[in-house]
Amino acid sequence: LVGDDGSIRPTIFAEMSALAARTGAINLGQGFPDEDGPAIVLEAARAAIANGVNQYPPGRGIPDLLAAVAEHQERFYGLRLDPARDVLVTAGATEALAATLLALLDDPDDEVVVFEPFYDSYAAVAALAGARLVTVPLRWPGFQPDLGDLRAAVNDRTRVILVNDPHNPTGAVFTAEVRDEIVRLAERHDAVIVTDEVYEHLVFDAPHVPIATLPGAWERTLTISSAGKTFSTTGWKIGWISGPAPLVDAVLAVKQFLTYVNGSPFQPAIATGLRLGDEFFRGIGATLRAKRDLLGEGLLAAGFDVSVPSGSYFTVADAGPLGANDAAAFCRELPERAGVVAIPLTAFVTAGRRAEYATLVRFAACKRVDVLEDAASRLSALR
Ligand code: PMP
Ligand code: GLN
Repeated sequence: LVGDDGSIRPTIFAEMSALAARTGAINLGQGFPDEDGPAIVLEAARAAIANGVNQYPPGRGIPDLLAAVAEHQERFYGLRLDPARDVLVTAGATEALAATLLALLDDPDDEVVVFEPFYDSYAAVAALAGARLVTVPLRWPGFQPDLGDLRAAVNDRTRVILVNDPHNPTGAVFTAEVRDEIVRLAERHDAVIVTDEVYEHLVFDAPHVPIATLPGAWERTLTISSAGKTFSTTGWKIGWISGPAPLVDAVLAVKQFLTYVNGSPFQPAIATGLRLGDEFFRGIGATLRAKRDLLGEGLLAAGFDVSVPSGSYFTVADAGPLGANDAAAFCRELPERAGVVAIPLTAFVTAGRRAEYATLVRFAACKRVDVLEDAASRLSALR
């Protein structure tokens, strides 16, 4: 978290967005959309502010949003939650992750199993919680874990198995076999499954399957999601966590001393969003799928090898065929060579495993079609 000279290291996202701003390159690095989400959601936030919803909301979140999350989990996944006890609103998925790991991990011998590469906050928060990070590699090009690696990683010291499905940065969606094995191992070793499903509606092949719906999973699973990706409101920082009340209470105990509460006028707005019709939710997946295809074709035409993602904002490409052997250096030079910013996968892995990901680069597809077309034409300069 802190560099050798004592300065705070910016996250890879801050660093790459600053690089894009400095060079005027197209920012396919940090994952955020460049268009607004549904007007009705934006209008609901304006209305809430106008109507005086501007003071601290209740600690768990406003009842209307808690109810909307419960309705959403039942509508899409058949999960029946008690909105007053099984749901907690958080300052984005980021706070949900932090509060959960701080709540569940308390002994230096506690282990948290994560799939590598991983979203950057996972390792940072495990470190803040003083726990040991145990990683299971996801390998190019399919990025599914090897079941033998997974079994070897989980043991009686494992407190948490931290899943991210659909997965950032690889875009992988875990197979049913992998999900089942995660539940089996958690049961056998009495671990809690924490599952980050912020890309639940951004899937391209099949409807999303939350781990919490699998037999034996509910009572040991905390599910995290966020409005940022689904409603293109990444700056609002409205997330939520759902699961059995005793686990949610443990997270609330920490959350109240991290942020106490957050985002009162945005909470009713997101409740409105979660109640939008099925066509909205299908539409965002279909729109992003078309963008994924556009980006993927552009990357192939530019000479990259491409791993076609099944979900998320992201596509991973191999710059090896373009002669790269150090993706970090390749990404630093990319604005000058091609006017595009992307993120090296080495930013999402532990030091010992960087060599395995040394030529892989993550590109974000969550941009306007004309921006993706422009990026594809710029990248063709690399050939
Ligand atoms: N988890 C994953 C996998 C993500 O990609 C992100 C980034 N948006 C987050 C969590 C953080 O979400 P939020 O912005 O809601 O804090
Ligand atoms: N989730 C987005 C990404 O992975 C942005 C995260 C961030 O800026 N912290 O790019």
